[in-house]
Amino acid sequence: MEAKDKFVENDTTSGESLANWGIIGQISIVKQLSLALESDRLSHAYLFSGPRHVGKNTLARTLAASVNCQGNHVPCRKCNSCQRIMATLHSDFQLLQVNETAGQRGIGIQSILDFQHRAYLKPFEGKYHVLVIDEAEFLTEEASNALLKLLEEPPPNVLIILLVTKTSFLLSTVVSRCHVLEFQLVSPAEITGFLSQEYGLPISEATILANLSQGCIGWAIKAATDDNLLESKKRRLGNVASISGATLEQKFKFAANLADLMRTNRTEVREELELWSAWWREVLLIQLGVPEITFNLTQIAGCEAPNSQFATTDLIQILNAIKETEELLEANVNPVLALEELMLKIPVTSSA
Ligand SMILES: [Zn+2]
Repeated sequence: MEAKDKFVENDTTSGESLANWGIIGQISIVKQLSLALESDRLSHAYLFSGPRHVGKNTLARTLAASVNCQGNHVPCRKCNSCQRIMATLHSDFQLLQVNETAGQRGIGIQSILDFQHRAYLKPFEGKYHVLVIDEAEFLTEEASNALLKLLEEPPPNVLIILLVTKTSFLLSTVVSRCHVLEFQLVSPAEITGFLSQEYGLPISEATILANLSQGCIGWAIKAATDDNLLESKKRRLGNVASISGATLEQKFKFAANLADLMRTNRTEVREELELWSAWWREVLLIQLGVPEITFNLTQIAGCEAPNSQFATTDLIQILNAIKETEELLEANVNPVLALEELMLKIPVTSSA
């Protein structure tokens, strides 16, 4: 529960070469990969596990660039090969991901078989064939089994990187064939520093973005150049803050809207529930007298917690209920029922 424990502060002992990787946070992972690369001991398969928007995708591309880099200081991120891998334009680099807005529901077996076919040929222009599977939990069962075969008997010069929010979403046999690296949330101080340095944001603005990002630097970077993201998150957080005082009818309408969204954008529903969890956790921590380990979400205008107290048991109950709902939705339970059930567990203040 202690948010601070999840942050990895910048490691000042890191060598200058790590700066080449251009990754904010995740310093111990970058160190491990850099050492493995230098000593020619890279695994053929990695599993990057951790929250969304903490740098998994960027680091996967950077690792892919590293093994194919033509520059002197690997990864140079400037040579032709590095640049085309970062832009997904390199013929030996393939990124698989679900495009939910285009109606895709999963990553099918054909894309794995296509990669497998190419993987047995010599790389076209680089040294390694690299396959990155973003949100690997969306692999169909057939695709997972095909991937497992590839992991069991990997061709030479192949690097496979799976990205996932939780390793439990994958077949345990797939997980056991990969070198698992656990990504951490990035500390608000690091995000604030990065945004003010790289994007010239005033510290006050950078701090709000860092807090709203909840340690997810990728979101903060996007929001630094897209006001809509910031406004949309504030609005959603405002909804969480106001729902405890809403009528049952309003709560059920909210549940129905969220269940609708589940059909077209599961990721957004997941993010919404994560936001709920973060806001209620913060209300609990403030009530328990430990506000210093929160993201100050309840200090943002329009997202404040009510002045009156909630029962501590109710707050613990809603946090457990959100977690259960997340699991039920992952297990494809009827989303309307699961979300209505959650609405019934929202704490109300004694004055409401
Ligand atoms: Zn390069």
